[in-house]
Amino acid sequence: LSRAFRDNQSHLKLVLLCTAVSGGGLWAYGESVAPEEAVSEKKKVVVLGTGWAATSFMKNLKNPKYEVQVVSPRNYFAFTPLLPSVTCGTVEARSIVEPVRNIFKKKVDVQFSEAECFKIDAENRKVYCRSSVNNNLNGKEEFVVDYDYLIVAVGANVNTFNTPGVTENCHFLKEVEDAKKIRRTVIDCFERANLPDVSEDEKKRILHFAIVGGGPTGVEFAASLHDFVNEDLLRLYPGIKDLVKITLLEAGDHILGMFDKRITTFAEDKFRRDGIDVKTGSMVVKVSEKEISTKELKNGGEIKTIPYGMAVWSTGIGTRPFIKDFMAQIGQASRRALATDEWLRVEGCSNVYALGDCATINQRKVMEDIVAIFKKADKESSGTLTVKQFQEVMKDICERYPQVELYLKNKQMHNIADLLKEAKGDDKKESIELNIEELKTALSKVDSQMKFLPATAQVASQQGTYLAKCFNRMEECEKNPEGPLRFRGEGHHRFKPFRYKHLGQFAPLGGEQTAAQLPGDWVSIGHSSQWLWYSVYASKQVSWRTRALVVSDWTRRFIFGRDSSSI
Ligand code: FAD
Repeated sequence: LSRAFRDNQSHLKLVLLCTAVSGGGLWAYGESVAPEEAVSEKKKVVVLGTGWAATSFMKNLKNPKYEVQVVSPRNYFAFTPLLPSVTCGTVEARSIVEPVRNIFKKKVDVQFSEAECFKIDAENRKVYCRSSVNNNLNGKEEFVVDYDYLIVAVGANVNTFNTPGVTENCHFLKEVEDAKKIRRTVIDCFERANLPDVSEDEKKRILHFAIVGGGPTGVEFAASLHDFVNEDLLRLYPGIKDLVKITLLEAGDHILGMFDKRITTFAEDKFRRDGIDVKTGSMVVKVSEKEISTKELKNGGEIKTIPYGMAVWSTGIGTRPFIKDFMAQIGQASRRALATDEWLRVEGCSNVYALGDCATINQRKVMEDIVAIFKKADKESSGTLTVKQFQEVMKDICERYPQVELYLKNKQMHNIADLLKEAKGDDKKESIELNIEELKTALSKVDSQMKFLPATAQVASQQGTYLAKCFNRMEECEKNPEGPLRFRGEGHHRFKPFRYKHLGQFAPLGGEQTAAQLPGDWVSIGHSSQWLWYSVYASKQVSWRTRALVVSDWTRRFIFGRDSSSI
């Protein structure tokens, strides 16, 4: 049993669990393993990264006809949605990581190199890598890997918007190491403030925790920190109880701007009740060792300084430098992420695929898609849509591309009907005469740089699964291009294009309350959603081992509270 769990043999595990639960009646099914292919026939697939996109690709790649080389500076997969819980010790860092070698399919020939790619040469089909493990001979070692297919899934950098002092003075919350560092720093702040001879003002400064960015990560971290401080730390440090302060700084008008208005309002009210200072319209312009300078957008741009003890920067993502170089090489220098078509193939080079946070599906293609939806509606309605019909079409579009909705919400336009009406300069129309050219003009107002799919684990993992399925059938389709999988109609690719299925999103708000926004604009906020959150995140774990560890950490926290030692 223990070997089956160790080897991550999910079928065997299921059988063993069923046997254990039912007390017998062992059943099993066989899985035919394709005969080994001659090595020379195998195509070489190089995968860069071991995050959500790459891991989901590797988990679903079943065809033994590939020789796969995975290159990543991390030899483990990290379950990022639980990183905020690691910052406060609600779950331990090791509970949310799984060694990638446990995840790879046994029947596919996979090699892993712990190294980072620093250059892609698409013309000669080579990637240049640098080992991240120091060897005693010559420090850092470089090597070159050839590929037939390259899969770029290297995620993104933290975006500091070149704000002075951020890199030197702020914590980020992107990697497991970041979360561990934050946990140690929070406890260090309490210990420093508790030392003798520290003035009251200095204690206040040290115990001021500033979080920059009111998106889901910043909000969840603020909520987790508030729980940690109030449920565990204040009991241990009663003398400095009244000096602790948490401030959440957001440049926009509201926190959680990408969520439904009901959730935004609930979160802001809850944070105010909890004593978390939410400062909206506050743009950070500089961070020094002890002070944060903000530009108050609501107060005519007044500059304010806020003393702080620890700052966490969580304002979004940027492009990794070697991806920028690659983009310049293939004529995508003006973009913010690698542009792909809807089959996830990078535009401007062949046999390179990009997925996850480092990629974006080309906006032109998305526009064509949106226009196609309208054309279909046009056919059904013979040229005129009522505003209601129009909103239904928009629902279809927003389900497929949630970022369109976000863009419209940010612009205080709740559907494209408003946008279109604005383009026509007529706000009172009850029905809309559908003119595709007019529509294109309206849509061209949408920022050409925007990412149409959100940068989430959900998108990355769906893209990984999709691409693995394409790779599993690649040869079959090449041999039989007119077969049933051929994508007819547009006729330019043998697979169906990638379609994102939005399954909803969570925003944990602390105090065992979570906001959930599920498809169909279904919103639920409170304790029941927190239990939904627990079940979804337990079920989404990549292995039974991490699932067991995470659930036991939650149980430990319920019984004994969080550990506040600074190791
Ligand atoms: P990543 O998962 O970041 O993986 C990138 C991989 O590339 C890593 O293995 C990295 O080591 C590797 N790499 C980096 N540089 C190189 C290089 N030079 N060469 C080779 N490999 C390289 N999303 C949700 O859907 N729900 C959530 O609740 C949620 N919560 C989040 C909470 C936090 C704190 C954070 C930071 C993110 C959260 N996300 C969430 C977003 C989600 O984690 C990302 O969208 C997702 O990780 C993107 O997957 P990816 O595979 O593109 O990149």
